[in-house]
This record gives sequence, structure tokens and C-alpha cells, in this order.
Amino acid sequence: MAEYKKPLPTIDDMNRPFWEGAKNNELKMQRCLDCGHIRYPINHICTNCLSEDAEWINLSGRGSIFSYVVFYQLYNQAFKEDIPYNVALVQLDEGPRMFGNIVGCANDDAKVGDRVEVVFDPVTEDVTIPRFRLA
Ligand SMILES: [Zn+2]
Repeated sequence: MAEYKKPLPTIDDMNRPFWEGAKNNELKMQRCLDCGHIRYPINHICTNCLSEDAEWINLSGRGSIFSYVVFYQLYNQAFKEDIPYNVALVQLDEGPRMFGNIVGCANDDAKVGDRVEVVFDPVTEDVTIPRFRLA
């Protein structure tokens, strides 16, 4: 595995199930045990009902592109070789929206409304990043 030089997440007790899931090719998020709301970003309380009780569930990893941009401006030297690169806000079928890159196609091939599915990119031994491809 080549050395990965981009920023990595800080894995802690709260988000560990998300990152462990990604390592196992599973997209996991918290579901509120009181109201059923799926929490994302990961949080210690439900943003819908303020409950602290949640379970980790597997999502389908399917959704559609809600918003989409291509970065031409370099904000972080670690991404220098990727310019231009895309970042999408994906509307997951289960409700939450999450950011991710659309991979496996040219930047111009993805557009708002396109169906996507998650893919898992193991960038280090400990970190696998969920990304998306056109479905
Ligand atoms: Zn709730």
C-alpha cells in the first residue's frame, strides 16, 4: 500500500463503529432507538429528539447526488495531484446526506440526480474511506 499523505480522520470511541464498518465494506450509521432518525454526522445525541440512545445499523450505500462540485482551487497541498477533483453531497436512500468523492468516472460524467452506490477505498491499514460510483 503506497504511503497516504492526505488528512486522515481521528478515530475515537464515538465514531469507531463507522470506521470499523468501512474496513469491512459496510456503511454504518447510528439509528435513534427512540424516534428511528438516522444520525449523520455521528453524534452523541439525536438531532431530531435529543435522545442519547442509538444503535449502529448497516445502510444500503445507495443514493443519489444531491449536490456536486469540482475543485480547481488548491486549498491543501496534500490534494495537489488530484486537482481537479470532485466532492458530492449524496442523498442516501435511508435519509442522511453525506459527502464523498465520485470515483470511476470523469468529473464531467457525474451530475445532480445521478444514482450512486458506495465503494470502499482502503487508504491505510486502519482507514478505509467510503466513496461513491455511478450506479
Ligand atoms: Zn431520536
